[in-house]
Amino acid sequence: MTAVGVSDELGLRLTRQLGDRTRFGGFVYPLLLLAVGLQTVVPEEQPALFALGCLVTLAGALWRTSAALKARSSSLQNWLASREELRVSTVLLATFWAILSGLALHAYPNGEFAFFLLFCLIGWVSLGAILFSPDLRLAQVFIHLNMLPAMLWSIEVYGRFTFAIVCVFAILWVAAWFVAKWTHSHLRQLVHSQICLEQQTEELRLARDLAEEAYLARNQFLSGISHEIRTPLNGILGVSELLRESSLNSEQSELVALMNQSSEQLLSLVNNLLDLSRINSGKLTLDRVEFDLRLLIDEISQPLRLTADAKGLQWSVKVRREVPASCFGDPARVKQILNNLMSNALKFTDRGGVSIEIGMADGGHIRCVVEDTGIGIESSHLGRIFEEFEQVDRSITRHFSGAGLGLAISKKLIEIMGGRIGVQSTPGQGSLFWFEIAISETRS
Ligand code: ADP
Repeated sequence: MTAVGVSDELGLRLTRQLGDRTRFGGFVYPLLLLAVGLQTVVPEEQPALFALGCLVTLAGALWRTSAALKARSSSLQNWLASREELRVSTVLLATFWAILSGLALHAYPNGEFAFFLLFCLIGWVSLGAILFSPDLRLAQVFIHLNMLPAMLWSIEVYGRFTFAIVCVFAILWVAAWFVAKWTHSHLRQLVHSQICLEQQTEELRLARDLAEEAYLARNQFLSGISHEIRTPLNGILGVSELLRESSLNSEQSELVALMNQSSEQLLSLVNNLLDLSRINSGKLTLDRVEFDLRLLIDEISQPLRLTADAKGLQWSVKVRREVPASCFGDPARVKQILNNLMSNALKFTDRGGVSIEIGMADGGHIRCVVEDTGIGIESSHLGRIFEEFEQVDRSITRHFSGAGLGLAISKKLIEIMGGRIGVQSTPGQGSLFWFEIAISETRS
C-alpha cells in the first residue's frame, strides 16, 4: 500500500469508527429536552420554544443517525462524503442545541433548571470528547459549541463568584479539548499500526505462497532430475559389475572398483534426493509387513562391523530380550534409518567404538540408541542437524562423503511412522542418537 493508500485507509477506518461510536448520540438532545419537560416549568411557560426544540432536535437526531450509519459502512470511494455529512449534521444539531440552551439559561439563570442543564452539558461534553475523538476537528467544534452557553451563563449570572466559576468552566473546556486530542492521536496511532500490521501480514502471506511454490518446484525438479540420472547410472553400475567380472589386470581392476564405488555413492545420493522429494510432496507410502527386527539388524550390522574392524573400532550390538521376535512395519525404511545412524557413527569415529542398543520404550514403541565415541557435534549445530542439506562444519566434515540428507530423511520417516528422534553430543567425546518408532507386534 502506498503512503496515499495508507492515509486513505486510515481516514476510512476513523470515519467508520466515528459513525459506529456516535450513531445514536444525536438522540441525547431530544432526551435531555424530555427530561427538562418532565422536571421543570419550561414547557408550560415557553410551549412554542419547547415544541420547536423537541421537533428540531428529533429531526436532527434522525438525520445524524442516518449519516452516522452511512459513515459506519462507508467505503474507500465515499468515506470523505460520508464524513462530511456526519460532520455537518453534528455541527448543525450542536449549534441548534447551543442556541437553545443559551436562550434557556438566559431566561432561567437561577435555580434548579440551570443546574440541571449545566450538569447534563458537562457530562455530555466529557463523553463527547472521547466519543468524537476519531475526528479531532469535529470533537473540538462539538466541545466549543456545548461549552459556550455554559461559559456565557457563568459570566452573566454569578457576580461575586464569576471569576471562580469561569475558571472552573475554562479548565473543563481545556481539559475536554486535550482529552479529545490525546485520544485522537492514540487512536490514530493504533489504527495506523493495525493497517501496517495487516499490510505486513499480507506481504508475508504472499512471500509464504511464493516460497511454497518455489519449494514445490524444487521438489519436482529434484524428483525429475533424480529419475533421469538414476536410469543411466544403473547402466554404468551394471557395466562396471560386468567389467569387474571380466579378466582385468590389477590396475584395471582398481580403476573399475573405484568407478563402481563412485557410482554407488552417486546412486545413493540420487535415491536420497528421490526419497526427499517423495516425502516432501506427501507421496511416500509405507509398507506394513511382518519382519524379524533381529535379523534386519544383523543384515545392517555385518558389513559395518567389517569397516569397524578395519578402523580398529569396537562394535557392539545389543537387542534386549523384551523386543518382540517379529514386528509389523516397513523393514526397508527401518533399515534405511538404522543404516544411516550406524554409518554416520562409524564415519565420524576414529577411536573407541560404536554401540547399538535396541529396547522398548513407553507406549509399545521400539527404542534404538546408536552411541559413538567420535568427533561429536557442537551444541550450536545440534538444533539444525536434522535439516535438509545440513552438514555441521564443512571444514571438519569435508573429507567425509555425504550431502547432509541422511538425518533429514530419517527424521521425516520416523515422524511418518509416528515416532521421534533426538541427539545428545559432546564435541570431541562422541554422540548419542536415539529414536522411537511404533513397529507393533500385531498387524493392526
Ligand atoms: P551426511 O550424509 O552428510 O552424513 P547426515 O544428514 O547423515 O548427512 O548428517 C548430517 C551431518 O551431521 C553430518 O555431515 C555430520 O556433520 C553430522 N553428524 C551426523 N552424525 C554424526 C555423528 N555420529 N557424529 C558426528 N557428527 C555427525
